[in-house]
Amino acid sequence: QQRTVVADRHVDSVCPWCGVGCLTRVAVKDDTIVQVDGRNGPANENRLCVKGRFGHDYIRHPHRLTVPLVRREDAPKRGDIVVDPANPWAVFREATWEEALDRAAGGLKRILDAHGPGALAGFGSAKGSNEEAYLFQKLVRQGFGTNNVDHCTRLCHASSVAALMEGVGSAAVSAPFNAALEADCILVIGARPAQNHPVAATYFKQAAKGGATLIVADPRGQDLMRHATHALRFKPGTDVALLNAMLNVIIDEKLYDEQYIQGHVDGFAALREKVAAFTPEAMEPVCGIPAETIRTVARTYARAERSIIFWGMGVSQHVHGTDNSRCLIALALITGQIGRPGTGLHPLRGQNNVQGASDAGLIPMVLPDYQSVADGDIRARFEDLWSRPLDPVRGLTVVEIIDAIHEGSIRAMYIMGENPAMSDPDQIHAREALARLEHLVVQDIFLTETAWHADVVLPASAHAEKLGTYTNTNRQVQLGRPAVPLPGKARQDVALIIEIANRLGLGWTYADVGEVYEEMRSVMPSLAHISWERVEREGSVTYPAPADDAPGTEILFAQGYPTKDGRARLVPADLSPPDELPDAEFPLVLTTGRLLEHWHTGSMSRRSSVLDAIEPEAMVAMHPGEIGRRGLTAGEMVRVETRRGTITLRLMADRQVAEGMIFIPFCYGEAPANVLTNPQLDPFGKIPEFKFCAARITPAG
Ligand code: SF4
Repeated sequence: QQRTVVADRHVDSVCPWCGVGCLTRVAVKDDTIVQVDGRNGPANENRLCVKGRFGHDYIRHPHRLTVPLVRREDAPKRGDIVVDPANPWAVFREATWEEALDRAAGGLKRILDAHGPGALAGFGSAKGSNEEAYLFQKLVRQGFGTNNVDHCTRLCHASSVAALMEGVGSAAVSAPFNAALEADCILVIGARPAQNHPVAATYFKQAAKGGATLIVADPRGQDLMRHATHALRFKPGTDVALLNAMLNVIIDEKLYDEQYIQGHVDGFAALREKVAAFTPEAMEPVCGIPAETIRTVARTYARAERSIIFWGMGVSQHVHGTDNSRCLIALALITGQIGRPGTGLHPLRGQNNVQGASDAGLIPMVLPDYQSVADGDIRARFEDLWSRPLDPVRGLTVVEIIDAIHEGSIRAMYIMGENPAMSDPDQIHAREALARLEHLVVQDIFLTETAWHADVVLPASAHAEKLGTYTNTNRQVQLGRPAVPLPGKARQDVALIIEIANRLGLGWTYADVGEVYEEMRSVMPSLAHISWERVEREGSVTYPAPADDAPGTEILFAQGYPTKDGRARLVPADLSPPDELPDAEFPLVLTTGRLLEHWHTGSMSRRSSVLDAIEPEAMVAMHPGEIGRRGLTAGEMVRVETRRGTITLRLMADRQVAEGMIFIPFCYGEAPANVLTNPQLDPFGKIPEFKFCAARITPAG
């Protein structure tokens, strides 16, 4: 039901929070957002969740950055982490734009001239627009001369991307999440859509109510399980055991689609050989799911006319995250449950523009549209356009960059809209790295924990203040429009990147955001028939589109795969343990994640009055049986420790957390979960193991 407010104007835009990409109508009075409603977008059909509807007043929070800041001359030396969290502003003074931009670019140039391109790196943002992502990676590649550019995709679906590129030649989803309504069987694994993709979850519930079989697999219980036909609470870190056992059943009982495999898929013999030992009986004690249940869900998935798979960071954030995704890809490929309505593979994207930022090239291995930096022909095309020789070697990823700072090879960074001081694993190590940098430029809307370490802070634009495109989890390119003016002296992010580029001598001249989009489109075949004018006119267009006037292609791979020979490839996965298993000293498994009301590092949602009022305090969740067994009391303050650090927070009883586990959200700066997490990486996707490390818990006293 639509609420009514008195507004000066209404602006059609897109939600700034998650990858679902709900289209919104923003009501504005006196240059302030007073209400947000859902529009009839392809991803939301008028629906919105609590974040989209009520999480908008952060943009006028008193902490908002409105003037450029530079580090005070009498501030503590670099290398010391001496920022007072109660008053991080104390180490800065206000500056003019001229001084701030000259210092920002001057410091980067000084390091570049003295130490070469390898001494620089940049983190872009999945919260920014496609145009910002494109310009940022172009600046790093053309201006810094390095591929050391990455963003938070490294921390969420990098392993899924690695497996999808290797298996089916495309990193994007094969079908939109609304395709669940056409499916007979829906498998949701390692994802909590009711919290993290709430409007997508409404489609899954709708499909289940309509008679589809819903299988939800997650070590933690979750709300979606109330709607599930099968709820599989498998042991954490045993995804490959469960999924290989399903593959074993499908192959052993000849439930695979032989014709589809012959026509489209390579590697079946090796997969059959690999999973032969993974019988349900052998895997039952490993994953904790009864053999007969494994058989039932495997048969259901394979026999259904149309089955579709959704997964999230419970699958990807492991040292074996790529292997987990390989198993899911194998399930779809050997059963032919892909390329048709109601079938497919859908890694649910987290941030509102993590799909678009990755497509735009904010990744160290690839230029826009996943074109390899190592391919000379591809590089030559970009060198022609950008008039500079480009680095042929892949750059460093997020965690590798932090390590390279410690090793002394990276000395300066430009960070736009990311908060690695909160989001990176082993946070003390990450913050020590930021403090060691000889020069750090941070561009953001708040003085984030990362900005505390900066030499120059550039006040930038919030989502509701700018024009740009965002690509959601469904591959829908959607237009965000400015609803309110920038506060104080804050500037547009695109304008700031251009200012830095031109101070590095790049001579960029873009008349407007549309011109940036059109340059980006000229190097991205995926956007071939989606002009700026078309996005402005239609508001949402799915890529790829076959013609300027044809709708985008929702279901991919109907005619084969975008690989060299047009065939998909099965890659068998072995069972490998998490990097750090519980032991006598640290007997519990810690897993981290998000809450419905808070977003990532909390820089926006903690400053949203409604959202923070609902979830105001950091808590560690533990099963009541485990609490009793350990002599603890729900509600008391406890100390949680791992081999990397300690935090203190309140203990909460939660039956959804399995015994032997604890869960902590990572959005609370006063009890930062990533002080505890393990930075060990998946060898293919380079994603850290946020979902599993050994921990202990004691009363805080
Ligand atoms: Fe925004 Fe995601 Fe909620 Fe939709 S589901 S309103 S995109 S946070």
